[in-house]
Amino acid sequence: MKVLVLTKNQAEQIEREGAAAYPNECCGIFIGRDEGDRRIVERLKPAGNAFEEGEKYHRFSISPAELMEADKEAGAAGKLVLGFYHSHPDHPARPSEYDRQHGWPFYSYLIVAIAKGEAKLMTSWVLNEVSEQFEEQLIERGLT
Ligand SMILES: [Zn+2]
Repeated sequence: MKVLVLTKNQAEQIEREGAAAYPNECCGIFIGRDEGDRRIVERLKPAGNAFEEGEKYHRFSISPAELMEADKEAGAAGKLVLGFYHSHPDHPARPSEYDRQHGWPFYSYLIVAIAKGEAKLMTSWVLNEVSEQFEEQLIERGLT
């Protein structure tokens, strides 16, 4: 499995978005490129959580329109949509059963745990197409 490569700024932006959305979940899209055993994020595209107000605290959903737009944007620049990030307010940074049921293969699913409004652990996961379970992906967090 490829290592997910984030710059320090990107990782901090995800933490900030997660803290700002608390007690709801934030979500967004990764655009970038796969290079050998590295999956390099070049851009974060924050997305609106498409769930209705009462559901946003434990679920996220990126609308098909937003995903299509991201796909087009990435394709035009010769890039790929690499995956998605979202926050888990007051829950561990592990995929929920909902995440598993709604996950697609190929993509990276990054989760940042937000405890009482503060960013904690960040993990990333890729769905194994055969077992239909998430497998943890290493994150390389840059120093700059
Ligand atoms: Zn989740």
